[in-house]
Amino acid sequence: MVTSNDADVVVVGGGIGGLSNALALTRKGLRVRVLERAQEFGEVGAGLQIAPNCTRILDRWGLLDEITSLGVLPENIVMKDALDGSVLTRLDLHDVERRYGFPYMVIHRSDLHGTLLRACREAGVDLVTDVAVTGYEQAAGGAVAVHAGGREYGAVVIAADGLHSVARRILSDDEPVNSAYVAYRGAVPIDRVVDLDVHTKDVVVHVGPRCHFVQYPLRQGEMFNQVAVFESPKALAGEADWGTPDELDAAFERTCGQVRAGLPLMWRDRWWRMFDRDPIMNWVTGRIALTGDAAHPPLQYLAQGAVMAIEDAWVLSEHVSGGDWDAALAAYNAVRPEHCRRVLTTARAWGDLWHHDGEKRLWRNGVLREREVHDYSYVDWLFGPTALTPDQEPPMFPAA
Ligand code: FAD
Repeated sequence: MVTSNDADVVVVGGGIGGLSNALALTRKGLRVRVLERAQEFGEVGAGLQIAPNCTRILDRWGLLDEITSLGVLPENIVMKDALDGSVLTRLDLHDVERRYGFPYMVIHRSDLHGTLLRACREAGVDLVTDVAVTGYEQAAGGAVAVHAGGREYGAVVIAADGLHSVARRILSDDEPVNSAYVAYRGAVPIDRVVDLDVHTKDVVVHVGPRCHFVQYPLRQGEMFNQVAVFESPKALAGEADWGTPDELDAAFERTCGQVRAGLPLMWRDRWWRMFDRDPIMNWVTGRIALTGDAAHPPLQYLAQGAVMAIEDAWVLSEHVSGGDWDAALAAYNAVRPEHCRRVLTTARAWGDLWHHDGEKRLWRNGVLREREVHDYSYVDWLFGPTALTPDQEPPMFPAA
């Protein structure tokens, strides 16, 4: 079997995580090859929220103007009760931008992915499709990604192969954790919602018993994106065919008019079952490193999955200097797993809070209504500058 060894770095997976690593390392003067199993590079799904800890990095890569021209800078994130439609709390996103120096943006996934892909092409990344990596090996001074057509050697191999990562099996025997929640998505032209009672300049999250509903504009306000998420009774009962449209309709029966008005606009022919994984604290073995969802797939409640993937890429690239890969990988492994562990566990807890019913719902609503709009103590640790070393990692919450 032929071994190619004309790249410094081999990246497995050409999603947002893989392309971010490829771009960041190419900008450091390295020759990078990306191996993607799909026939074409691309993203499925609709919108993504990207917080200032991500737009700060995109700015450093010279991409912020381009993605700003493609996305939307919403005015607020508004949290509402999904049953009675009342406002619980909000984040003023103009003030967020002032505080953190970079905007909170919503963008179509394919626009962010397309921007990264174009930047990779311009930077000279070797982008290869239709190659599914089946195994990994350590090698002298590097590592090898193995696929049906051959072997790709690099001084380092970065596995950005997503939730069901092949590479992760080398480091952990854990499996994806099924949350029993399922997401429906739908992005439609904005004129389809003008007669509905929707906020077209905000991100709105309606939180309800075992369900939530997210709405925001996309593509400079030309499109409107919705995500409906609910707990599937069939998943809880152990049935294989779970998350079907009849369950979608039943899950939102009790919700307010604003939510129910949006439901007919969801795509009903596909849905996404929500898995995460337990955190693992070691992402590196020899010259093989995990990144993105391969390392830390979260539940989506903090909207930080793609953001963490981009942060991973930036942190690793900032530690690469003088070709000392062992030091760079050690520095990366010293800081990123702990940050992402916090995000994963907080996302689970945040999702539980969203989905309360009965007295717990009333308690939650009371706590959120009490929150002062400009209190950033719960997001400073997320939206601030990405830590390069453990001592730069801020405490999660201020001391009482
Ligand atoms: P993936 O996107 O899974 O990419 C992996 C790539 O590797 C794919 O292209 C795949 O084809 C390829 N691949 C897989 N196996 C192989 C192989 N063996 N060989 C070669 N190639 C391979 N994140 C946010 O930051 N903000 C949000 O608002 C947000 N909202 C979300 C909403 C929902 C409903 C969901 C489900 C997720 C959301 N996320 C959000 C999370 C975000 O989508 C993911 O965390 C992010 O896309 C992960 O990127 P990745 O490149 O690591 O993995």
